[in-house]
Amino acid sequence: MPIPFFKLKKYLANLIFPTFCIRCHHPGRIICDNCLKTIKPLSIQLCPLCEKTVTINGEVCRPCRKRFHPAIDNLLVASDYKNNLLAKSVHLLKYKFIRDLAPSLAQILTISLNKFKLPTPDFILPIPLHPRRLRWRGFNQAELLSQGVSINLLPGLTIPILNDLIIRQKYTPSQKNIKNYKARQENLKNAFQINSGFDWPLNNLPKQNLTGKNILIIDDITTTGATILNFAKELKKLHPKSISAIVLGRQS
Ligand SMILES: [Zn+2]
Ligand SMILES: [Zn+2]
Repeated sequence: MPIPFFKLKKYLANLIFPTFCIRCHHPGRIICDNCLKTIKPLSIQLCPLCEKTVTINGEVCRPCRKRFHPAIDNLLVASDYKNNLLAKSVHLLKYKFIRDLAPSLAQILTISLNKFKLPTPDFILPIPLHPRRLRWRGFNQAELLSQGVSINLLPGLTIPILNDLIIRQKYTPSQKNIKNYKARQENLKNAFQINSGFDWPLNNLPKQNLTGKNILIIDDITTTGATILNFAKELKKLHPKSISAIVLGRQS
């Protein structure tokens, strides 16, 4: 069988620019299997709102549910963001544009999704970037992570990704530069909106809503969870059965 051109290109590129593990510098993968294993899944999950109550699968605890009526059911945090390799990888992906890191990071999400139990997702929704930030970065890191999970979570099945169903309509300063919780909420108010021109890829969805569907939201990292909560609030208008989310880590 002839070698496909893209494989040949990759092979030749590897001869000229071989890949080394960013941690141990061993040639091969960008994060070798041994180093990837050092980014361990968390042993326990907390309520994403109070961050105090231990919950089995990152569910919102009962008092927080009663008090805040959040749109999400669960938020899983895959690993500890204090892990240097994880933090470094996320930084290199987002700010040095090393896209090749995404499959390894997606693997970390998949491991946690297999360890903990969320409803099996019918659709994956990456947290979108504002078009201006997308142009600057050239890709949406949450979308790259979603692609890995989409292919690897369920053997033999690809979970559809609904990419532009909800768009980011407001250009917000980076959340990372806003320390105060209230200011973050204000910053994100009406940041997301259902895309009225969305081209539904599947015609078996009645009235173009998500009734009866389990949704998994994917983002790279979270701090207060405000972005995910605001996104989920907009998503809830499409009446999904459940809304879960997963991130690589939580930054304090
Ligand atoms: Zn290594
Ligand atoms: Zn709580």
